[in-house]
Amino acid sequence: MELYGVRINTIVTDNVAVRCAGCGGVIEGRPWRVSILDAVAPEAPVSWTESAGLNPGPFEFHSDPSHVLAWMATRGALFCRRSQVREILRPVWLPTEPRRLGLCDGIHRDNHEFVEPATLVADRS
Ligand SMILES: [Zn+2]
Ligand SMILES: [Zn+2]
Repeated sequence: MELYGVRINTIVTDNVAVRCAGCGGVIEGRPWRVSILDAVAPEAPVSWTESAGLNPGPFEFHSDPSHVLAWMATRGALFCRRSQVREILRPVWLPTEPRRLGLCDGIHRDNHEFVEPATLVADRS
């Protein structure tokens, strides 16, 4: 690119491969970004980010929910089967020992039903 006779080197991103956090494969085209964000009010006693050291993302995936579910499984997280894999997922700490992270889209009104993500991949195939 040239601007007023001055050559400006733009950053070429074409050959920087974006890899799927679920399967490790290169993503062609636009990746599907998923973030883990808490909806808890700021005055809540302890932030989940402080207590858990969770990386909220965004994480990038192939546009297939099974890749996101596979990624959850490798992290030991559970997924609420009343929700869908969406761009923003809510973290829910489960009262288990050791405690586990559950992810839910937070849209449904009834109780969460957290299950192993692998069981959902099997169900949907
Ligand atoms: Zn993938
Ligand atoms: Zn739920």
